[in-house]
Amino acid sequence: MTEQQPVTILGAGLAGSLMAILLARRSIPVRILERRTDPRKHQLSAGRSINLALADRGIHALKIAGVYDAILPLLTPMPGRMLHDVNGQTQFAAYGQQAHEVIYSVSRPGLNEMLLNHAEQLPNVELHFEQACTAIDFVTRHLHIAGRDELHEHTEPFTQLIAADGAQSIVRRTLHDACNAQITDELLPHGYKELTLPSNHGQHQLQRNALHIWPRGGFMLIGLPNLDGSFTLTLFLAFNSSEPDQPSFASLQDAASIEYFFKQHFADVLQLMPGLAEQFLSHPVGKMVTVRSSTWTNGRNAVLIGDAAHAMVPFHGQGMNCAFEDCIELDALLQQHEFGIACERYQQQRLPNANAIADMALENYIEMRDTVRDPKFALQKQLSFELERRLPDRFIPRYSMVMFHYEIPYAVAYERGRIQTQILNELTAGVMHIDQIDLHQAVELVMNRLAPIASRHAHASSG
Ligand code: FAD
Repeated sequence: MTEQQPVTILGAGLAGSLMAILLARRSIPVRILERRTDPRKHQLSAGRSINLALADRGIHALKIAGVYDAILPLLTPMPGRMLHDVNGQTQFAAYGQQAHEVIYSVSRPGLNEMLLNHAEQLPNVELHFEQACTAIDFVTRHLHIAGRDELHEHTEPFTQLIAADGAQSIVRRTLHDACNAQITDELLPHGYKELTLPSNHGQHQLQRNALHIWPRGGFMLIGLPNLDGSFTLTLFLAFNSSEPDQPSFASLQDAASIEYFFKQHFADVLQLMPGLAEQFLSHPVGKMVTVRSSTWTNGRNAVLIGDAAHAMVPFHGQGMNCAFEDCIELDALLQQHEFGIACERYQQQRLPNANAIADMALENYIEMRDTVRDPKFALQKQLSFELERRLPDRFIPRYSMVMFHYEIPYAVAYERGRIQTQILNELTAGVMHIDQIDLHQAVELVMNRLAPIASRHAHASSG
């Protein structure tokens, strides 16, 4: 009997480490190659203390991989948004209307380390750090690897390659040339900067159980809670602006302009953050990109997962959730088909969904930084919840379909969301209050335009 060749996974980030666990649990040997040093042995650099929103799709995948219980202690529930206006007034808006409709703040390094620890404990997983892939040959099935220094440059054979090497994926670029793939790479003209709002002797300085948003029209600040009492704040802002009165990262280059900017727009935050300007100046500005590729596999020996296949902007909090969903769908297909066919089916199944969530993520930037301030937004949300209560098998708010219903594919959420928006616009035209809406007509409209949908929570809703 010949020994089973390991599956090679490139990248030990969130997708790579979860994929390794899924395969290894089925006794498939896995060899992971990662460019970075082992994150469990090194401190993060300043400004990289990112936390992420984990939602239903990610949770479902973590449960399938058998690691969710271990991750539970890392989670802080966020049942809704806390909106901060320029005067420092706050307003809480729940994301959903059922107790389980909650998203969770989780430390990205904490989650990654937990997944790596799980992977490492499985007998058939080999983890190799400081192994940067610099080229791939799909014909001879070799990876060129640069190690710590020139002495460690070598080639590695592979039989089957799962590329989880992130938004700048070298495997995607090589597939592009080998398969004549169509790739679009759309850089957002806005960047982001992460800042830490420290704890007050271990206590959170803002309401702990919420995702905080300071929407300011053209830009916004958001804050997610950490377990140690701090918040990770992220400022999303244009890199440059042609209008002198419009702020941009380019206009915030010294302590005076930074403090003035925060005083004008986020005065409540400024008073909680001594040393804000210093922190601001020492942290990098990140870029956000939407990558769409027509080809995620060569149909033989290589396939892309996670950001390598479909990097998206972070405004729906779905990049990681979608990456985890990739892992469970690919793993399920690998249980039914040989590698090449499974990868082809995975691409067919996932690509329309990845494109749909990439579009919804772009749309959500406008909603988070601007539309949430509009009274019409609150009215439509109230009406959505009312329609969901009356017709739980037909009308589920789009945000809820994406965040709380893993059984509804992204593409279906996108399409039904489009119809729902039309219905809501029609019903709220010229209306200020929900009492002015004929709810019987509203129900009829929904019955006529939306077919029932199989939702695993529909039965739990009641009038
Ligand atoms: P990565 O996490 O980028 O991992 C790729 C790994 O591959 C890295 O370890 C890298 O070192 C390694 N690698 C790269 N190139 C090579 C090479 N040549 N050789 C070897 N190794 C290599 N998602 C959410 O679900 N919720 C959120 O709230 C959320 N918020 C976000 C906020 C911001 C500001 C940003 C930027 C992203 C956010 N995301 C969020 C998206 C999420 O971070 C990504 O979708 C997720 O990290 C993708 O995981 P991945 O494993 O595919 O890629």
